[in-house]
Amino acid sequence: MKTCIIFDIDGTICNSKKRQKNFINFDAKNKGNVQEFLKSLDSYTNADHSSDVVIPIGVSLLKWAISEYNPDTIFFVTARLSSGRKATEKWLKDHNLFSDKFMLVMKPSYKKNSIGNFLIKELYKDEKYKYDVTKKIQKKFEVKLAVDDKHTNCKVFENLGIPTIHAMYCKLPLN
Ligand SMILES: [Mg+2]
Repeated sequence: MKTCIIFDIDGTICNSKKRQKNFINFDAKNKGNVQEFLKSLDSYTNADHSSDVVIPIGVSLLKWAISEYNPDTIFFVTARLSSGRKATEKWLKDHNLFSDKFMLVMKPSYKKNSIGNFLIKELYKDEKYKYDVTKKIQKKFEVKLAVDDKHTNCKVFENLGIPTIHAMYCKLPLN
């Protein structure tokens, strides 16, 4: 069976806090205003990614994992929406973090015509999304390692029997 490792992007190898702060309306999310929240998520997704900066320790961790496990494939499994694929790929390439061995898996974008009926609790949760993607990956790959900065995502990987590193670098600066 082929081998792979799974890496998260935001908070793990990339500090995108500045862009998040500028565009994501967490207040709308907290108040349950789905339309406003998703609109802000769209703006965040389509905004220029040049304010995103690499997290050096995260990139070192990625490089270490690649040399340690020599995986056939490196999956970036990110909860960023797939409508922002080009921008994310560009950012990864600009930082030499993308080649033939890498696969970028992104969360499906929300269908515009269904947004009106959504409740916050019905949104596709990160943990469920990461579980679904990882189950698919495991059909074809032995997952040697998963790295994520979100504890609840780490639990998902652990429960699927995957060695997991919780990438918690304390508070990231607002670059
Ligand atoms: Mg993350």
